[in-house]
Amino acid sequence: MSFKNKTVLITGASSGIGAATAIAFAKEGANLSIIGRNQEKLAITASQCSEHGQVPLVIVADVTKDEDLIRAVDTTVEQFGGIDVLVNNAGLMRFASILDENIMEAYDQTFDTNLRAVFRLTNLAAPHLIKTGGNIVNISSIAALKMPDHPSHITYYVSKAAVDHFTRCIAAELASKGVRVNSVNPGPVRTDFADNIGLSREEAVGFWERSGKLTALGRICEPEEIADMTVFLASDKARGITGASFVVDNGKLVKIKTP
Ligand code: NDP
Repeated sequence: MSFKNKTVLITGASSGIGAATAIAFAKEGANLSIIGRNQEKLAITASQCSEHGQVPLVIVADVTKDEDLIRAVDTTVEQFGGIDVLVNNAGLMRFASILDENIMEAYDQTFDTNLRAVFRLTNLAAPHLIKTGGNIVNISSIAALKMPDHPSHITYYVSKAAVDHFTRCIAAELASKGVRVNSVNPGPVRTDFADNIGLSREEAVGFWERSGKLTALGRICEPEEIADMTVFLASDKARGITGASFVVDNGKLVKIKTP
C-alpha cells in the first residue's frame, strides 16, 4: 500500500483519529499536509510523522473559514504539486435538543465543522483529485446509522447522516472523473473527543469505560484502527470501492440489548 510520491491532505490532524491517520500515511511514505487550529498539537503530530521519514506541511487553519481552506489547498499544491487523497476528519459535537434556546448555535457550530467544511474542501480539492485520479475518505460516525442516545445529540447525529449521504452523492458525481469517495463510520474511539465536548478528564475516562461495555466485543477502538481503515480505502487495494460507508465499531450497532 505504498503512498510514495502521493500527497494526502488531512483535516483535524492535531488530535486523535486525524493524528493517527497522518502517522499511518507517513509510514506508507506519503507527502502530508496536516490541518488544525492548534499549532502545538500539530507540531507533535508532525514530529511523529517525521520519525517515519515524512516531514508534513503544517497548516494552521480553521476549517469553518473559506479563506483558510483555500490557503490549505493552494499551499499543498504549491508544495507537493497536487493532491491524491483528501481525508475530511475534523469534527465536533455540541449539545442541544430541539427544545433548547441555543439549538441554532449548536447547529451552526456542528454543521459548519462537520458538514460545510467537508462540502467546501471537497469543492476546492476535487479539481486536483480529478487530475491525479485520487480519492476522498470522510470520517463519519455510527451516529449516521442509529438513533441518538440522548435528544441533545441531535445536531451531531444529523450532521453525520448528512456526511454519509454527501459521500454517496459525490461518489456518484465524481466516479466518471476517476475519483472515489468513501466514509469510515467509527463507533467509540479513545481520543480527546470526549474532553473536547466538555467532559472533565475523569468523566472522559468513565465515558470511554462505559462505551466499551456497550459494544458487542466489549472494547472501544484506538485511533490507529480507524487510520488503518482509512489508509486501506485510500489505497489501490480499494480501487473497486466507492460511495460506501465502513463501520468500525466493535459491533456496537449489532450488540443485542438484554432487557
Ligand atoms: P478529537 O477531538 O480528538 O479531534 C478533533 C479534531 O478536529 C482536532 O484535530 C481538531 O483540531 C479538529 N477540528 C475541530 N474543529 C476544527 C476547526 N474548526 N478547524 C480545524 N480543525 C478542527 O476527536 P476525534 O479524533 O475522535 O474525531 C475525529 C473525527 O472522528 C470527528 O469527525 C468525529 O466526529 C469522528 N468520530 C469520533 C469518534 C470517537 O469516539 N472519538 C466516533 C465517531 C466518529 P484543532 O482543535 O487543532 O482545531
